[in-house]
Amino acid sequence: MRTSNAFCSIVLSLLILPSIGPAQAESTYVVAGSLIDPLNGKAISNPVVEIQGDRIVAVTPDGAAPDNAEVINLGDATILPGLADLHTHLTWYSTDFGYKGLAVSETDEAIRGVVNARKTLMAGFTSARNLGASGYASVSLRDAIDDGRIPGPRLQVAGPPLGSTGGHCDNNLLPADYGVSAAGVADGPWAARQQVRENRKYGVDVIKICATGGVLSKGTNPGVRQYTLEEMQAIVDEAHMQGMPVAAHAHGTEGILYAIRAGVDSIEHASLMDDEGLKLAKRNGTFLSINAYSPIYMIEHGEAQGLLPESLEKARNLAEKRFDTYRTVIKAGAKIVFGSDSATYPHGYNARLFAVYVDLGMSPMEAIQSATTVAAESLGWVGDTGAVAPGYFADIIAVEGDPLEDISVLENVMFVMKGGHVFKSPE
Ligand SMILES: [Zn+2]
Repeated sequence: MRTSNAFCSIVLSLLILPSIGPAQAESTYVVAGSLIDPLNGKAISNPVVEIQGDRIVAVTPDGAAPDNAEVINLGDATILPGLADLHTHLTWYSTDFGYKGLAVSETDEAIRGVVNARKTLMAGFTSARNLGASGYASVSLRDAIDDGRIPGPRLQVAGPPLGSTGGHCDNNLLPADYGVSAAGVADGPWAARQQVRENRKYGVDVIKICATGGVLSKGTNPGVRQYTLEEMQAIVDEAHMQGMPVAAHAHGTEGILYAIRAGVDSIEHASLMDDEGLKLAKRNGTFLSINAYSPIYMIEHGEAQGLLPESLEKARNLAEKRFDTYRTVIKAGAKIVFGSDSATYPHGYNARLFAVYVDLGMSPMEAIQSATTVAAESLGWVGDTGAVAPGYFADIIAVEGDPLEDISVLENVMFVMKGGHVFKSPE
């Protein structure tokens, strides 16, 4: 036994050692025309990105890959860090609204999630936050992606969103005879705490609450607050105690103020945020996730999407005011994170929001930062995602053209790598 082991190791060292050198992992190199670096707010020409396993180990400007190395040559394309969408509903199609949505089971949601997670990844979004599903299908979706069984972005998921009876996060479509209410409905501080505990028990990463009425729900007014300060404080305290951030759906001025005062981590939509809310958000470091493309899409396609007539009307009435607010918060330098609110428009079209951000006053670099560096800060993934830099996950996408000149080129992503695996290659 001894002799043969010794013989084997001699043969192995002769055969293998000269070709691989001393205990070094295999590197792959991504080579492109330029790299957008949102950490430093600039572009780098002719980058060479060295990858080992699922991480980036080196980025060299104007470099060259070593001879005989494994190289992914993207020609003169621009590479960027994989994008993050901080407000998605992957378990819904963009046509599931109004009464059509009543026919969608939790099992259907799971299957929709598989379809939409793939579309989102192929659109260049290697991270996403799922802010609300009817049950816990999004938890299973996240785990199946993390296990490498299905393609999709790295996910943080909320499970059933918390809301008051009859509020935006309830299901108000059927009369009392049916006794239907949504899974996350919780009234009063203790019931709300209990719901946070239940969501955590079943594996969510983040708590979503409905602080005001909304556009898509029946019989709610986006401008009206739907939780007391006491309820919101209880939710935030409970969630933070368990290490989970809180994302508050809030359109109306008062609901936004109360949610920020209660200590939520992000305001979703922020449509009617006033100066006081903006000041408070800046002081507290509250992230604003502004879904500025949803109203544009829904006003045009809402009928086909199954939107209730009242929802279409609410979308129209709110649009102008919310664009005014968005211009103001962008100008004021609030911490804005990219949040499409897909499925309010089709999954895979997520990047259409970038051009709207630029129209509303962001520089292209700021728009990219909202989906990379600022998003990573909001996700608690700084050092892991949001940049092509040593130590970060090898989440890299590529586009033709220069997004700093024309942000809409991000709508056509030709290459997607996540964790060192290539999911999409140029045709
Ligand atoms: Zn939403």
